[in-house]
Amino acid sequence: MAIIGLTCNYVEDQYRITHYYAKAIMAAGGLPIILPYTKEANIIEAYLDVLDGLLLTGGIDVDPYYYHEEPSPNLGFICPERDAFEFALVLGAFKRKKPILAICRGMQILNIALGGTIWQDINHAGFFCHKHMQEAPKWYPTHEIILETESRLFHILGQQGHLRVNSFHHQAVKDIPPAFRVCARSQDQLIEAIEYDDFYCLGVQWHPECMENDLIQFQLFQSFVNTIDGVG
Ligand code: MN
Repeated sequence: MAIIGLTCNYVEDQYRITHYYAKAIMAAGGLPIILPYTKEANIIEAYLDVLDGLLLTGGIDVDPYYYHEEPSPNLGFICPERDAFEFALVLGAFKRKKPILAICRGMQILNIALGGTIWQDINHAGFFCHKHMQEAPKWYPTHEIILETESRLFHILGQQGHLRVNSFHHQAVKDIPPAFRVCARSQDQLIEAIEYDDFYCLGVQWHPECMENDLIQFQLFQSFVNTIDGVG
């Protein structure tokens, strides 16, 4: 059974994670393990020894220190413990070519860790964008994405050029790391997904785990577990 590490939020003295991620991984045939934080490099290495794949989950903003910017007035809450842990973890996983699925904040962490940058607040970045912080049920897709037809994501999501997704972000990927590619954008040209060719390493800006009854979105989790199990 594919063992998938899930990062989580840290609020005051509690670890917190919505139930959707673990449910999706279990439904796909994987074994989800929530990862408590640590600064200890040897514990991070021990996590990586155990894990077959890494699921970087959603959450609060990333400290702009990591992409060499000063904080904008519109930056939200940041969590130094979570940032430090996730950057170390994702770099270790990438080095070992462990499959990575990165969702929302997770995609931003992946992007920044490997040399990319993000918009601190898309609503004050000086360009037009659609509403990306939806006020609608979590499962409900509120905006369109356009997929890159040569991408892994396009094949995972049933080879459809356009899809509708949910949206809960005010930050977004700006510049991507070397050797990554943009594989989906919203109609306002914001980057909604990135991927890497060499092994399964995929980031999406929306929350597929919340789109529970959407069989196409579920393929993100199924393909992630299958790539570890060597199926398909
Ligand atoms: Mn969006």
